[in-house]
Amino acid sequence: MSDLLRMRDVSLTYRSEGGDVPAVRNVDLDLDRGEIVGIAGESGCGKSTLASTILRLQPPTARVTGEVLFEGQDVLTMSWGHLRALRWAGASMVFQGALHSLNPVQRVGDQIAEPIHLHDPETSDKQAHLRVGELLEQVGLPAARARAYPHQLSGGQKQRIMIAMALACRPRLIVADEPTTALDVMVQAQVLHVLSGLVHELGVGMLMISHDLSVLADLCDRIVVMYGGRVVEQGPSKLVFGEALHPYAEALSAAFPRVGDPAARYAPSGLPGDPPDPAALPPGCSFAPRCPRVIDDCTRAVPELRSFGGDRQASCIRVGQP
Ligand code: ADP
Ligand code: MG
Repeated sequence: MSDLLRMRDVSLTYRSEGGDVPAVRNVDLDLDRGEIVGIAGESGCGKSTLASTILRLQPPTARVTGEVLFEGQDVLTMSWGHLRALRWAGASMVFQGALHSLNPVQRVGDQIAEPIHLHDPETSDKQAHLRVGELLEQVGLPAARARAYPHQLSGGQKQRIMIAMALACRPRLIVADEPTTALDVMVQAQVLHVLSGLVHELGVGMLMISHDLSVLADLCDRIVVMYGGRVVEQGPSKLVFGEALHPYAEALSAAFPRVGDPAARYAPSGLPGDPPDPAALPPGCSFAPRCPRVIDDCTRAVPELRSFGGDRQASCIRVGQP
């Protein structure tokens, strides 16, 4: 039983004029205190959509079912007051492309102080200032950088500011959605190192989303692989990365990013085609049209997520077959 985050049978359907888009389907996910769990999968597989439900950030037109329990309380049904208290201080997010969400005309220190004041209006300017300095040092920047404007910082430094902001109210869970995808490879490694170091030092839990399985394998205790809005495999990261059961997880593992080739970071090499459009899912297993091991039975029914011992699960009828 996980004490921090427990998602059960979570589905999210976007409703649009063109029809329903079932972007996330029947996902279970657990995360304990001090644990780093990765969510992998190509673009469009529902990773960000799933993450949005943790702080109930999905658009109002989306229909969400299931349970998202944060420390035992269901985020999907809690009062707005309770939800407001949870955001920043219970769980916080570092978003994909967050670099562009810094206010260009405000000093970064003031931007980090904003959630601190918002969360506790009693905080004095002096207290907030000290806390901002402490946070900057935690993410490896000198406290004096608080006076800088965003344009005076590099991409990696700006992303550290976003991490400092996410840590500002001492959350128990950090959700990092592709936190380094916009950065070059060297800076990416530094920022991930800072982030994972802090998670261990502060004992918080982290959900780290990336299309890059090799990045997750280095940092995470467990990895959940999503495809077509569903979990297709989950287990200890060394096994999911090194000895994948599901053919999709195996293809992702084989797709090491080639340094300097941005295209390789989005489409795994050796895996032709694209992930399915959730508005037009193929019958049966969503991966069947791209799967090297496909047989007729794969298109008959959506495969169940089966257990394979040692906290490993995969949804493929071919696992264990010659
Ligand atoms: P990922 O983060 O894995 O790249 P997303 O969760 O962003 O995937 O998207 C999953 C699917 O949901 C995609 O097909 C995307 O087009 C669709 N989608 C995302 N946001 C919306 C929205 N607001 N309305 C309709 N469809 C959406
Ligand atoms: Mg995304």
